[in-house]
Amino acid sequence: MATAGAGPETLAAALAFGNHRLRETSDNTALDAEVLLMYLLGCDRAHLRAWPEKQLKPAETREYEALIERRREGWPIAYLTGEREFWSRCFRVAPGVLIPRPETELLIELALAATPADQPANLLDLGTGSGIIAITLAVERPRTRVTAVDISVEALAIARTNAEQHGARNLRLLQGDWLRPLPPNERYDLIVSNPPYIAEGDPHLQQGDLRHEPGLALASGMDGLTALRRIIAEARDFLNPGGALLLEHGYDQADAIGGLLRASGYGEITHHRDLQGHRRATMARYGSPSHPTPITAMTDTLQLPRALVNHLLHLAQIAPDGRLAGLIGAKDGYAQSFHATDVNANASAREAAMKALQTQGETLLAILSSHPDSPAEPSDQEIIDNDNPDIPRFIISLNTKGVLELRGFQRIQPLGWQEIELVLLED
Ligand code: GLN
Repeated sequence: MATAGAGPETLAAALAFGNHRLRETSDNTALDAEVLLMYLLGCDRAHLRAWPEKQLKPAETREYEALIERRREGWPIAYLTGEREFWSRCFRVAPGVLIPRPETELLIELALAATPADQPANLLDLGTGSGIIAITLAVERPRTRVTAVDISVEALAIARTNAEQHGARNLRLLQGDWLRPLPPNERYDLIVSNPPYIAEGDPHLQQGDLRHEPGLALASGMDGLTALRRIIAEARDFLNPGGALLLEHGYDQADAIGGLLRASGYGEITHHRDLQGHRRATMARYGSPSHPTPITAMTDTLQLPRALVNHLLHLAQIAPDGRLAGLIGAKDGYAQSFHATDVNANASAREAAMKALQTQGETLLAILSSHPDSPAEPSDQEIIDNDNPDIPRFIISLNTKGVLELRGFQRIQPLGWQEIELVLLED
């Protein structure tokens, strides 16, 4: 008989206890209680069902109560049990890596479809985390050679354990920042990534399992696109001609990703839906015969002093109707100052700003204008300076999430605009 305060003593009592204790935390109290009990006892569900009266040892009762308490505090089940299933295999997980999501199996389906089983190929997984993508591909396609990169040493240790567990010998793990650790002459047939893509400040980050997962694996910049922009801009230099880039992204980011891919010269862009019907993955090819590689040389990053960026964000905030336009002047190639024109592209205002810029011994670096909702690229109507059509464009937006952002674009002929990464220069 259970005495008051001694905790549940049978399997059935333990499940009832967990179910009740978790009622305010979880949507799936019965399942959570079962999973934690199976994990603790190392048994399966049939065992729980078959022996409801089976006694728990006092130590088991205590441990079970402790697990239920941590779950009640919001700890994800996968971190409590240390594992999660992905593509029918069991992977180790810990708080240093993202918990595998069922959506990510879409990337596996697409990657396998693009990779013939009977031919060698060179594959790359960026931001591998627990290693689920790289390891699944390495095991399902043993003739390929797979490289997996992550910046987190902790994540790589977990990925290594998983690789050993699943016997993925055709896998190499590299530590570093996206494509930086790769030997510059290496080329891949497929580059795949499930990068962080949530906007910093998105309220979902404060909810459910996400509260306990590594921020680095979840959030990326003010609009969630910082990592995706970098991957899109840098991956093409590592693709074999006609090679594919395959990305997971937010349910509402497909159009933005399509725009970024087009602007970077990728072709054959296709979006793919997850089981919820959201466009969750995008695939594109670079330098394929139907879409020749652009030959224009491009600079992909532009450095801006933090003080200037702060000044611009401030001006955009106080500008009448939130609208702002002007010229960015540079000295010795470095962005230096902002000269306001007017938002209606009035010619004399522009001439005055240009004059002011030249008087300070500066050259024109970029043309800035505001836009209410962060377009994928500048549109032709917005080119306020027909005298300087090829000067980079900055767009400052109060995007839909209410966050101010500044983005840069550079014209590439004949494809339109390519996004350039704006890098803050600390003073
Ligand atoms: N590639 C890993 C996964 O898909 C990690 C992803 C991440 O940390 N953003 O789960």
